Amino acid sequence: MASHEINSGAAWEQRLPAWLRRFAGYDVSDDLLRDLVGSIFASARTIILGNTIGAAIVFATWAIEGDRFFGVCAFTCLCFGVLRIRTLLAYRKISHLNDGRRETIAWDLRFFMEACAFSATVGINTLLIMLTSDSETARILAFGTAIGFASSFVARNAARPLLVLCQVSCAILPAAVGFLIDNRADSGWIALFIAGYICINAFIAGNQFRHLCNTFQASRRIEFLAHYDPLTGLANRLTMTQEIAAAIGRGAEFAVCYVDLDRFKEVNDTLGHARGDEMLKTAAARLKGALGPGDFVARFGGDEFVVLLDNCNAVRAEATSLKLCLALSQAYLIDGNKLENSASLGISLYPQDSRTADNLLKNADLALYKAKAAGRGTLRFYTREMETALSDRLEMERDMRAAIAGEHFALVYQPIVDLRTGETASCEALIRWPHPARGTIPPGAFIPLAEQTGMICEIGEWALMRACLDAASWKSQAKVAVNLSVVQFRDPERLVAAVDRALEASKLDPARLELEITESLLLENGERTMEALAWLKALGAHISLDDFGVGYSSLSYLSQFPFSKVKIDMVFTRSVTSDKASRSIISAVCGIARDLSMKVVVEGIETPAQQNAIIALGAQYGQGFLLGRPQMQADILKLFEARLAA
Ligand code: C2E
Ligand code: MG
Ligand code: MG
Repeated sequence: MASHEINSGAAWEQRLPAWLRRFAGYDVSDDLLRDLVGSIFASARTIILGNTIGAAIVFATWAIEGDRFFGVCAFTCLCFGVLRIRTLLAYRKISHLNDGRRETIAWDLRFFMEACAFSATVGINTLLIMLTSDSETARILAFGTAIGFASSFVARNAARPLLVLCQVSCAILPAAVGFLIDNRADSGWIALFIAGYICINAFIAGNQFRHLCNTFQASRRIEFLAHYDPLTGLANRLTMTQEIAAAIGRGAEFAVCYVDLDRFKEVNDTLGHARGDEMLKTAAARLKGALGPGDFVARFGGDEFVVLLDNCNAVRAEATSLKLCLALSQAYLIDGNKLENSASLGISLYPQDSRTADNLLKNADLALYKAKAAGRGTLRFYTREMETALSDRLEMERDMRAAIAGEHFALVYQPIVDLRTGETASCEALIRWPHPARGTIPPGAFIPLAEQTGMICEIGEWALMRACLDAASWKSQAKVAVNLSVVQFRDPERLVAAVDRALEASKLDPARLELEITESLLLENGERTMEALAWLKALGAHISLDDFGVGYSSLSYLSQFPFSKVKIDMVFTRSVTSDKASRSIISAVCGIARDLSMKVVVEGIETPAQQNAIIALGAQYGQGFLLGRPQMQADILKLFEARLAA
C-alpha cells in the first residue's frame, strides 16, 4: 500500500490500530475513499441478481424442507435483499462529488451492515440445513450456494477488503460450524478447508484492493492532469475554455483577464526554477484569494494566468483587475529572499468583444500584449485597434524576412573615447533598418520582434559579417564591437561558427573584434553560456559585458568570466552629477574592473558635467552623444584617421 495517499482521517479513525485501518481500507485519501466506496455501489445489476438468486435458493430450501425456520430465513433474506437494493438506489440518486469523508464512511458502513446481514442469513440457512436436513440435494445446494456467494464477493467488492472478509465469513463459517457439529467422517477436514478458503479469499481481496487503489489513483491523476495544472492546482487551459463556454451559455456579461507576471523569467533564471515555482504557487494563491464566489482562475503555463470574472461589466472588471494587480505586486518572501514583482493584465468583455471563448481569450491576450508594451504593472482593455496593431506586427515580420533576404540593414558606428586623451579608441557597431515605408527603424523598435521570432540569428550574423568586413578595410587597427543577442546563444555552435566565418571571410585580426553581451545572458543556462563564451574567446575575440548595472545585476558576474571590458549602463550616467549612489557604483565598478584587469566604458555621456564627473570617478573610456553619435562608416574613419595623424 506504499503508493496510497495516506490520510489522517477523523479522530475515531485515528484510534483504530494501523493494521485495521489498512485492512479496512481507510488509510487512503478522502478522494480515493470516495472512489473505492463508490465502486461497490456501481453495479445495480450484480446486487439485484445476487440478492434474487440468494433469496430464491433460500426459498427453494424452505420448499424442500418445509420447516418454518427456513421460512423465517427466506423472508429475512428477502427483506435484506430489498433493503440493499433500496440503499443502492438511494446512493445512486445523489451526486457524491462533494461528499466529505464522514458521508463516505456512513455509506460504506450502511452497505457493510446490510451486505453482512444478507450473507449471514444465507450462511445461517446453510447451517440449519446441515443440522436438520436429510436431503443430500438441499445440503449440496446450500453449501454450494454459500461457497459460490463467497467467491463472487471477492470479485464484486474488491474495493472494500474488510467487507469481503466479513461477507465470506458470514456466508460460509456457519457451514464449517455445521460440519463440525454434524461430526461425520472428514467433517473436521472440511471445516479446515473452509477456514483455509476464507484465508485465501481474504488474501486475494487484499491484493485486489491494492491493485484497485493504484489503478484508481492513476486514473485520478490522469483525469487531474487533463484538467488541472499540477504545480498550482489551478484549472488548465482546457478547463478554462470550458468554463468560458459555460458562461457564454448562461448569457450574462462577464470578463476574461489574461494575467502575466512581469519579471518572472528573471526570477526563474537568477534564483532557479524551484524558487520560480514557489513564486507561481504564491501568485496562484493570491489570485484565488482575491476573487469572488462565481469567479474562476486557471494557469495557462509559464507565468500566464487567466481569470474569468462572472457577472461582470467593465467597471467591476477594472476594479477587480486592479485588486489582482495589487495582490500580485505584494512582496514575495521565498526562501528568505524578499522579491518584488508586478503583473500586467489584458481584459476582454463578453458580449461586446466577442461571443466565442477562443476569441475572448485571444482578445484578452492582445490586450495583455499592449499592457506589457505600455510598461509593467498595468492593465489594458481590448480595443478593435489592437487588431490593427497585431496586423502591423505581422506586416513587420513579413518585411523583416524580406529585409534579411535582401540584406536591407545598415550599420552605424559610435566612437568609444579615451576620456584622458579625447582620442577615439574603438567603436561600437549599431544596427539600423532603413525601411522603405517607415523610414529608418532603430534597433529598439525591431530587435525585440526579431528575438521573439528567432530572426535575430540571421540579422546578428549579417551584422557580424558586415562589421568584420568593414573593420578589416580600415587603415587604423581600431577595434570594433558587435552586439550579440541572448537568443543567439541558444544555439552556441551556430553562433561560434558565424563568428568564425566572419573572421575567416574578412581576414580581420580576431583581437580587433569585441563581442558585447548583456547580463541577462549570464542568467540563462549558466554553464552552456560560459562554454560558448570560452569558445568565442578561443577564436581570439574579446568579450565585453554591456549595459552593466541594469536587471538583476550581480558583481559576481565580473568574476565569472574574464571579460575584456565592462560597459556601465547609461542610467548611472544620467544621475552621476546629482546622485551619490550612482557615483559610488561607478567608482566601485571601476575599482573592481581595474583589479580584474578589465577596461571600463561608461555609456550615455551627454554633457560635459557628466564627462567630468565620470573622469573624476576613475573611468578610462566613455561613449555617448557628447563624445560622438552613431555615424556612418566614412565619418568614423575620419575620427580614426585624425588619431593616426596625431
Ligand atoms: P547598446 O549596445 O547599449 O548600445 C548603445 C545604445 O545607446 C545605442 O542605441 C546608442 O545609440 C545609444 N546611445 C549612445 N550614447 C548615448 C547617449 O549619450 N544618450 C542616449 N540617450 N543614448 C545613447 P541604439 O543604436 O538605438 O541601440 C540600442 C540597443 O540595440 C543597443 O544597446 C544594443 O543592445 C541593441 N543593438 C544595436 N545593434 C545591435 C545588433 O547588431 N545586434 C544586437 N543583437 N543588438 C543590437
Ligand atoms: Mg552594446
Ligand atoms: Mg549598452
